[in-house]
Amino acid sequence: MNGRLLLDGGAPLLPHMQRVGVDPGAIDAVFLTHFHGDHTLGLPTFVLHRVFVDDRPLTFVGPEGVEERLEALWDVSWGPDWKRVMRPKFKVTYQTATPMGSAAGFDYETIRLDHGSSGSNGYRIKVNGRLLAYSGDTEATAPLDALVEGADVAIVEATGPGDVFSHMSWESAADLKRRHPKTRFMFNHLYSGTLEDAATDLQVIEV
Ligand SMILES: [Zn+2]
Repeated sequence: MNGRLLLDGGAPLLPHMQRVGVDPGAIDAVFLTHFHGDHTLGLPTFVLHRVFVDDRPLTFVGPEGVEERLEALWDVSWGPDWKRVMRPKFKVTYQTATPMGSAAGFDYETIRLDHGSSGSNGYRIKVNGRLLAYSGDTEATAPLDALVEGADVAIVEATGPGDVFSHMSWESAADLKRRHPKTRFMFNHLYSGTLEDAATDLQVIEV
């Protein structure tokens, strides 16, 4: 058992963790693919928990600028008390993702994916001997195939049907799955409706 991972942190993260019985204090590392609001705005309350309720150490892994971007978010969220009262209690490590790296005992590989003008970090993470691929937001371009290649489980976005700006279409998601038949896919980030292998909200799976 490596520990516990959180992959991105959209809102409302904290109440959802409580609801599925995941202890917010037991997360060892958070991997961020990019800084868009739907992937980060659940983090301020999670961080509040890690300051006042459970102060075990926490590592954030993310693209270039991870420390500046997140500290700015905590600052906007909590005002002057962030730096004065909260930051000194927060046992945090920020790590800019490297092509191959390790964070809080998790070995990972980073693959840059296409996503609008910011791009996105896809991660291949070794979890209890299995290989987990996580895309965050991505277009259906070649780096995504490299991300999921040989993975036991792939959590990949599939935003909607047809042509979706800077995201995966359901059709591309189905094609991707056909090209990697040995990988178990879970699709998320759906804006409405559903497709085969779509994850449902608050779903718990055994791997
Ligand atoms: Zn995005």
